[in-house]
Amino acid sequence: MHPRLATDRHSLPQLLEAVRQHVADVLAEVCEREVVPAAPLPEPELLSVQGAGLRAALEEFIARWEPVLSASAGPRYLGFVTGGATPAALAGDWLTSAWDNNAVSSLDGAGQHLERETIGWLRTLFGLSDQQYGTFVSGATMSNTVGLAIAREWLGEQRGVSPAEHGAGALGPVRVLSGAAHSSVSKGLSILGLGRQALVSVPTQPGREAVDVSALERTLREVDTDGLCIVVANAGTVNTVDFDDLRALAALRERYGFWLHVDAAFGAFAALSPDHAHLVDGLDLADSICIDLHKWLNVPYDSAVQFTRRPDLQTSVFQNAAAYLGPLGETPDFAHLTPQNSRRLRALAAWFTLRAYGQDGHREITERCIDCARTLGDAIESTPGLRLLAPVRLNVVCFTLADNPTAERLSALTGQLTDEVFLTPTVLDGTPALRAAFSNWQTTAIDTQRVAAALQVAIRTL
Ligand SMILES: *Cc1c(COP(=O)(O)O)cnc(C)c1O
Repeated sequence: MHPRLATDRHSLPQLLEAVRQHVADVLAEVCEREVVPAAPLPEPELLSVQGAGLRAALEEFIARWEPVLSASAGPRYLGFVTGGATPAALAGDWLTSAWDNNAVSSLDGAGQHLERETIGWLRTLFGLSDQQYGTFVSGATMSNTVGLAIAREWLGEQRGVSPAEHGAGALGPVRVLSGAAHSSVSKGLSILGLGRQALVSVPTQPGREAVDVSALERTLREVDTDGLCIVVANAGTVNTVDFDDLRALAALRERYGFWLHVDAAFGAFAALSPDHAHLVDGLDLADSICIDLHKWLNVPYDSAVQFTRRPDLQTSVFQNAAAYLGPLGETPDFAHLTPQNSRRLRALAAWFTLRAYGQDGHREITERCIDCARTLGDAIESTPGLRLLAPVRLNVVCFTLADNPTAERLSALTGQLTDEVFLTPTVLDGTPALRAAFSNWQTTAIDTQRVAAALQVAIRTL
């Protein structure tokens, strides 16, 4: 054994204790450190030939790289839609690496059983029936892509061909209709050989990001698809967290026979809050559903879940027939259900946080984030110089400058805030804007007050 490995192996308990102590220190200050440090990035160094050993590697990471890492695990990193990691999720993630199991085959199946138990809990959490078959994937982009891949196979089934066997070309032109689809849908269509241009943008309701259902019906009649297409419903758009009327879409499906995929990456968490659950009413009717877990469930990256009513089609697409993996069988192994073969025991972090805090703990996180977003929305409305661009429907505040809202001026504004809060830019209906997305388990009303105060100072000096 290489001497560095042998030494690290010998002193593993002490080394892990040093790492544990350091992580405790990092997490103790994550709420107070600069949200996005201004320090310059280190220059890349050459690969070490001898190796330095774990202790020296840790010291170097602390010295060279930690000063430039953002506090994205903390309570005022409100860019994108960013979750943190609950204490139990962090423990689950550590244990995932410690056990280093590959949860894909029933030849060594305990990991898969644990994942199926976790999927069952997630179904309960989101109010889904056991008709929805779930699998873990690495994020919502992958969940959308897997959902669209199953949809592609369904289109083939309608036409008596199998794109999985004969290629996407066997399908002929495919149309994917959506109101305000997330950018990952186009990416998925590109990966799947359906092409980004398959996406047809359907008008949304006036001043909203929710699809106009009668415009969708008109488009369904007009597009040339031999009556076959995919509809991507949005259950929580990223800019204004608007929701398509899922029941109305499911009713349209009865008449037009499309595949209904719902991108509920973070909007699905509305189901946890009795006051907001109506927003995702009808979610269970979908043919496939995307839900991210590394956002609002607050498990570490990479984690999302993909649900579908047609695991048979999912297996047609993703089966990885190999003698060493064992037969497909009644309950296919996960190796036959997603793009990945080998992968980590991805469910464990979700298992831990759901076991530790339950439905009620995660409801509390969801509702606290919603309250914070409301409070910040109110503060922005009453701040001269700022303008709210949409009502706060859930956990995102979308706002801009009251006067001359250019991307440059907005960037100058956020540039002044990076110690205190991280916000990301967007464009809503042609207007450059900012978003503050609340999805971290540690964010409280005090953080919201700090963000509002920082914005009020920055706007005065802009
Ligand atoms: C974040 C998000 C995605 C993409 O998720 P990743 O986890 O970044 O791959 C897709 N759809 C919606 C609505 C999202 O919010």
